[in-house]
Amino acid sequence: MKVPIEDWLAEVLGQCDGDSGEVADYIPELARADPDRFGAALGTVRGHVYPVGHTEVEFSIQSISKPFTYAMALADRGLEAVHEKIDVEPSGDAFNEISLEASTGRPRNPMINAGAIAAHALVEGGSSERRVERLLDFYSDLAGRRLHVDEDVFESETGSAHRNLAIAHMLRTVGAIDDDPVDVVRGYTRQCSIDVTVTDLARMAATLANAGADPVSGSRHLDPAVCRQVLSVMASCGMYDAAGDWFSSVGIPAKSGVSGGIIGVLPGQVGIAVFSPRLDEHGNSARGVQLFERLSRDMGLHLMESSQGSRSAVRQERAGDGERPSVYELQGDVRFAEAESILHALAEEPEGPGTVVLDLTRVYEVNAAGRRMVLEAARRLNLDGHPVALVDPDGVLPDRDAGDGLTLVAYDDVDAACAHG
Ligand code: GLU
Repeated sequence: MKVPIEDWLAEVLGQCDGDSGEVADYIPELARADPDRFGAALGTVRGHVYPVGHTEVEFSIQSISKPFTYAMALADRGLEAVHEKIDVEPSGDAFNEISLEASTGRPRNPMINAGAIAAHALVEGGSSERRVERLLDFYSDLAGRRLHVDEDVFESETGSAHRNLAIAHMLRTVGAIDDDPVDVVRGYTRQCSIDVTVTDLARMAATLANAGADPVSGSRHLDPAVCRQVLSVMASCGMYDAAGDWFSSVGIPAKSGVSGGIIGVLPGQVGIAVFSPRLDEHGNSARGVQLFERLSRDMGLHLMESSQGSRSAVRQERAGDGERPSVYELQGDVRFAEAESILHALAEEPEGPGTVVLDLTRVYEVNAAGRRMVLEAARRLNLDGHPVALVDPDGVLPDRDAGDGLTLVAYDDVDAACAHG
């Protein structure tokens, strides 16, 4: 059997209407783009990439570079230092508005040009050449192949970068950047001129979906906390002045660019990229928006679409009988809601001397909240007189310090844990 995802994606592509919108023309080189090009790719957190349509066509990354540069600034300087210079509030203004927050003098967010230019300047390197070199290495690592700057786009945009120069000079006067504004705009413009394909972007987006680890190679490129910050800002500010509309209809953190690309990142599931140069009145790829609306609806990808609540994480319980310990067989991912169901099951355990065994064999992952809650339950059970043992053959709960001097022992199977006491 052939996995049908590519066929399905091709079908949706064929159904998106291609005539509406205009190709961006404020950068002369972009006006020359073939308006009929249309490609999309989907990269999953399991490491599969499904490309469809004009997937080999290279186009300049433009504003889709902004989340990745923001990620690098965060990795270089830390969340707090970056936040001191760039806020995270949606602006509702056009992407190239010459404006700063009245109260603090900061750019409103890193997805509009003012914030993106400031984020570029925060990347360590000291000069635009070095910064661009580092960004090019970083984007190339994320894409899994060597990328390059499109010199024609760069020259063309440099000749018409007056507005970005005005923004950079304004940033310099308020201390939002410390470097030479002309040099910073040069670097920012080169960053926007890096060529990519939808296949590259899908893989880059899939790494953001996978908390910073490349699902294809397994290499970690970003810290999960940095990814979370970048995706939060994409969710609220990524789609120019249509961010609210996009989030309610599509519900996927995203970033678009004037060359006609859009990336979308559904945390824990998938990264999606599309390229079609005709733009709608907000500057977003017209067919790209249609495609995302269809994918979100057909595949239930809206972030706010919740299922009926997580099922109990307790798969089975076997009550203890004085001879044998009580065994709680847990399952799935253990986050706040699942851990709460575990706490309720354990709360029914009568006080007494019997050992309680928590079997994590069928648990995939325990997040920080889940871990705290399970360990606190173990501590309380222990105070009630129950020795607690874990079965954790895959080491999903490596840190087993429950506090009050209690460190849980983990066994490879239930029989070994039952002998605990
Ligand atoms: N390089 C473009 C600019 O700063 C990027 C704009 C965009 O894609 O939104 O004008």
